[in-house]
Amino acid sequence: MNTKNTLLRNLPKVDLIVDELLAVNKHKACGAIVKSAIQDTLQSLRQAILAGTLRELPVDQKAWHALLNKAIQEKNLPNLKRVINGTGVVIHTNLGRSLLGPSTIKALQNAGACFTNLEFDISTGKRGSRYSLVEGIICELTGAEAALVVNNNAAAVLLSLNTLSFNKESIVSRGQLVEIGGSFRIPDVMSRSGACMVEVGATNRTHLFDYENAISAETGLLLKVHTSNFRVIGFTSEVSAEDLVALGRKHKIAVMEDLGSGSLIDLSSYGLPREPTVQEIVKAGVDVVTFSGDKLLGGPQAGIIVGKKDIIERIKRNPMNRALRIDKFTLASLESVLREYYDFDVALQTVPTLAMLTADSTFLKKKGLRVLRRLGGAGKCKDKIILGQTISRVGGGAMPEHGLDSWALVLAPRDYSASSLESWFRSLPVPLIIRIEDEKIIIDLRTILEDDISALVSILEQYLRKEYVG
Ligand SMILES: *Cc1c(COP(=O)(O)O)cnc(C)c1O
Repeated sequence: MNTKNTLLRNLPKVDLIVDELLAVNKHKACGAIVKSAIQDTLQSLRQAILAGTLRELPVDQKAWHALLNKAIQEKNLPNLKRVINGTGVVIHTNLGRSLLGPSTIKALQNAGACFTNLEFDISTGKRGSRYSLVEGIICELTGAEAALVVNNNAAAVLLSLNTLSFNKESIVSRGQLVEIGGSFRIPDVMSRSGACMVEVGATNRTHLFDYENAISAETGLLLKVHTSNFRVIGFTSEVSAEDLVALGRKHKIAVMEDLGSGSLIDLSSYGLPREPTVQEIVKAGVDVVTFSGDKLLGGPQAGIIVGKKDIIERIKRNPMNRALRIDKFTLASLESVLREYYDFDVALQTVPTLAMLTADSTFLKKKGLRVLRRLGGAGKCKDKIILGQTISRVGGGAMPEHGLDSWALVLAPRDYSASSLESWFRSLPVPLIIRIEDEKIIIDLRTILEDDISALVSILEQYLRKEYVG
């Protein structure tokens, strides 16, 4: 039996092993990564020895090399990695929001691997505008006169406010001063944009006369904000886009609406709540409408601004626009996703966010049965993994009060707490992210991709073999 001191003394010197490994393995990894992987490994061995959990060092040089090579390989893994989303939250901001379908991935590949006409007008041979590549499509789909795309919807709101209301008053309802995740708060964005916020109405009710009474010579904008992630229920009222537009026209003041998620399809026929579509808001006459590219639209991160031509032109000329512009990958993927919308039935199949949101619960149950079957017969593992009904969420701050009927794999670990199993799932090479409800693990099948199933089955096999205990 080795003592702790003997073990510590027998730990090799970093520099010696670096040279040895570089010579033996002809490592492509540069010396620095090799060195830091070795330092980390030796440090954790040292801690394990001191904690009394390690009583033997690797037996020979071969064993040492195997251990260290594994550490070096792990160092070379990307920090941004694939995870399995078992949360049932479709537009999960922390897990990357919307996914892109195969033809959009192809468009991204093309934009990355080939030269493109990003800012080159092929017909004239002169410099072109990157925005022109998607503006026409956005106008066709939304019915707007003009469009512009920036980095995200937060940027779209900031840029529009800065253009239309700098050093002027913007009138907004007290019921719409929303904070969404990631420290985006309407009052703060307004103040940073240079707009002076004038709040009107009460938290639950704002009337047209509230806006009208607040109009002055200093008013630059009437602003409407989608309350996205919260709802005021009960005795409530807000002013419609149409009424606000009529008021704006009367006083020659622009009207802006931040739609947040902004869907092009009315999803109420698929069991989701009725929300005004971008087309409807444009049709109501709102001068500027902003919405996200990666929420209900199901595209890349982007902020889409649509509206009246003269106003969009002013926004385009704002010097801040250059700082908020989108890159070629956003353009390529956004164009591809928008093209799916030329046929809504196609979009509902090929835009993953829409497909997941509208997947019916029988389909999800079948997906669960398939996983159980692959686990070697439902009978054998029935008492450990069962299929149960659950409720998924839209996410992305959209439709917060609405649950989607779904099915989940439910695990009730007997020997360990749900939270220790949850952290084991997170520690795996392809981490599995789940929900815990009543001390049970819920793996919601709505957000489990076809490509996730094999990895999920293998994780659940490890669970059934109780590998997490070790
Ligand atoms: C999500 C959201 C934003 C911010 O959009 P990002 O694309 O995340 O920048 C702004 N306003 C509202 C109402 C939102 O829901």
